[in-house]
Formats: sequence, C-alpha cells, structure tokens
Amino acid sequence: MAVYVLDKQGRALMPCSEKRARLLLARGRARVHRLTPFVIRLVDRLRIDSDVQPLTLKLDPGSRFTGMALVRQQAQRLSVLSLFELLHRGAAISKALGQRAGFRRRRRSANLRHRAPRFDNRTKPSGWLPPSLRHRLDTTLGWVTRLRRWAPITDLAVERVKSDMQVMQNPEISGVEYQQGELFGYEVREYLLEKWGRCCAYCGAENTPLEIEHIIARGNGGSNRVSNLTLACRSCNQRKGSQPVEWFLKNKLQLLARIKARAKAPLRDAAAVNATRNALLGALLHTGLALATGTGAQTKYNRRRLGIPKAHTLDAVCVGDVQAVKGWQRPTLTIKATGRGDYQRTRLTASGFPRGYLTRQKQHFGFQTGDQVLANVPAGKKAGMHRGRVAVRKTGSFNIQTPDGVIQGISHRHCRIIQRADGYAYTQSRFDSAQLEQEAARTGAH
Ligand SMILES: [Zn+2]
Repeated sequence: MAVYVLDKQGRALMPCSEKRARLLLARGRARVHRLTPFVIRLVDRLRIDSDVQPLTLKLDPGSRFTGMALVRQQAQRLSVLSLFELLHRGAAISKALGQRAGFRRRRRSANLRHRAPRFDNRTKPSGWLPPSLRHRLDTTLGWVTRLRRWAPITDLAVERVKSDMQVMQNPEISGVEYQQGELFGYEVREYLLEKWGRCCAYCGAENTPLEIEHIIARGNGGSNRVSNLTLACRSCNQRKGSQPVEWFLKNKLQLLARIKARAKAPLRDAAAVNATRNALLGALLHTGLALATGTGAQTKYNRRRLGIPKAHTLDAVCVGDVQAVKGWQRPTLTIKATGRGDYQRTRLTASGFPRGYLTRQKQHFGFQTGDQVLANVPAGKKAGMHRGRVAVRKTGSFNIQTPDGVIQGISHRHCRIIQRADGYAYTQSRFDSAQLEQEAARTGAH
C-alpha cells in the first residue's frame, strides 16, 4: 500500500513506499497526518512543481461497491499505487426511509376518519435521485475529493456504461458480426446482457454463467448478427443444440413469440445508461480534472487479456484504454460507509412502539460512536490491548468492535482516540491471489 505524503504546508506530494515512510518518520523528517488511509506530512519540505508526476484515479461505480484505483501512467504501462473499494449503504438508507414512512403513515392515519386523497401535487426537482442513489454519488465524489488532497491526481477514468452504443453503431441493423475474444465481442456480450435482462432467455435462470446462443443455429444458416443472438444457460444451450427454436420451444409458444419479438427489437440507448452513472459523470466533469470514460465491455476485455482476476478494485484498474498493468497484486482498503449516527432518537420495536431512547448528545467523555480507539486494559478478564471502532454509552462503559469481534464493557478511562469518526469504517484486506482466482472461476462468464 502506498503511503500518501504531504509537504509542510499540506500540499500533496508523490506517494511513497511504506519503507520510505518508516525511515522518514524514524528520522523525524515527517509526522503522521492520518492513520487510515495512512498519510504523513514532511516537516522540512515545500512542494515544487517538478516534485510531482501526474496520477490517475480510476473508478468502477457499482450498486453495492465502487472500486477505486490510484495509478501512475509510465510509458505504455500502468503502475498501481493503491486500491480501494467503497462499500455503499444504499440498502440501509432505503430501509430506514421505508420504515420512517411506515411509522408516519400509521401516526397520521391513527386519528383520522377521512382525508381527500392528494393527487399529482408533488414534483421532484430535475436531476433528483432517490436518497440511496444520491448517497452513492456523494460518497464517491467525497472520496475523489479526499484522495485529491493527499495525492497529485490530474486525471480521472470512469466506467460510464456497460456497453458502448456508439461503438455498436446500431448493432441490430449495421450487420457487424460477433467474434469471440475481441473487444467487439465483449461489447456484444454486455449489450446482450442488458438486452436480455441478465438471465437465460429459455428458462429464465439468473446468476449462472450465460453463453451466447444463436437463435437460428450456425449450421442451419443462422448469422452472427446481434439480432440472431441471445443468452442461454449451459443446459438450455446444450439441450437446444442445433435444432430450430420452433422445435425446441414447441410446448412454449408464448415464450417463443416473446423471444422472436425481443430479438428483433434493438435495445434503447437510454435503458443501458443508468441515471446514477450519468449523474456521477456530470459531477466528475465539474472537478476540472481530465476525464476519460470506458465501457464495462472494455473493462472485462482488458481484465481477461491481462490475466487479472475479478475484483471491484481490479475492474477499476482495467477501466478505459489499458495496454499493460504493473503491480496490481496489492492489498485492498475496504471503506465501508457507516453513516454518522441517527437523527431519530427513539429506538423502536418491530411494531413501531418506543423501546428506548438515544441520548441527546453524541459525545460522552470525549468519545463518539465510530471513533477509532486503542484501549489498554490493565487487568481483569479483558486485559490487553484492543484496537477498533468504539460504540459509546452514557455510563462510560464502551463496546469496541475489533477485527476479532466485539469486546463489551471497556471503561472510557482505558481508551485513547487514534482517529475521529468520519462516517466510514476501514478494513485492510490481505492480498490473496488464490482466493481471487477462485472468485474469478466462480463468477466465470459474468
Ligand atoms: Zn436456461
């Protein structure tokens, strides 16, 4: 993991190795500026422009995870400096809002006999995104801003769509044919995944490796054109073999009609570009950095070609135009969005009745839930050093979430803050190539 370095006025210098950071700290030339991600500040240097080379931050936005990779472009080769995966909490936000709406509805209707229904009297401002998606956008942008403070980032690269309609040039009618293993082949695959809803066209199976299927088999004169292609799971593909689709689906006439109609209808451009990704792109343009975009198909093509296993962070490395990659075998820092606590002060039972109350103030004895602390317990059953995320109580008896589990009832007197809560929890994962290979094999065609 690269260590971020600031000059004595807090401006970003080039990241350095862990070893160099240790030496700088040992010689008193640097101070620790922040623990995770690790940032040091030189006490005796001011930045001059020749000190820094351009760095690129690459992003692969996803619904649960956003992969981020900080890379340096050296000649034709990318050199990976750090890998991050940002774990979003969209599901938690959506659940909390759904619950709030439910409780409100009950409270409002409890003593109400009749109220005329409202209709069509609410509008959303243009560019509005649901809170769970807005959160994805905000946290991603937040991390771009943060990383820019710590490293001299000049370029951004982001995966914009799954498959590129411009490259496809209206694939259904232009007559360009699918070839396996080429970039265009990957574009076609991603296009078909979007078009056929990521499931087997014949049996509807999801989350299984899908194969490209010729509706009219090649042997019977079927073409490689996109309008003759669909996706099928392995067993459907084999059972169908080269028999005509009318025979294969002779007992499922409705399905047959649906498949035939769908095969002819081209996918609308808008359907493939999702709103959050578009909003993210717009916001990234506002950063003023040079912005390159790629497609999901291109990412996958690069990853397969370079023999890089599947991971959110490594997908980010492969975004856009990539020739060669050096040093991708790095541990990942997982950044989990935890939020900064609840606005709601009442804890409720499943039925919505109050069960207990949170305190008005968030801080107790100088600590706040979410702070990273180091507890040195001198004696007793919990004697020893514990490091982790603290959950505070008014009594001063805290819980500490360590990598090995929760340790309950640690007095605030034994705790020392090592990093203030910032709405995220951090886990450094060890790099395990065997596990990644397995993962790559399991997710197979996806
Ligand atoms: Zn199937």
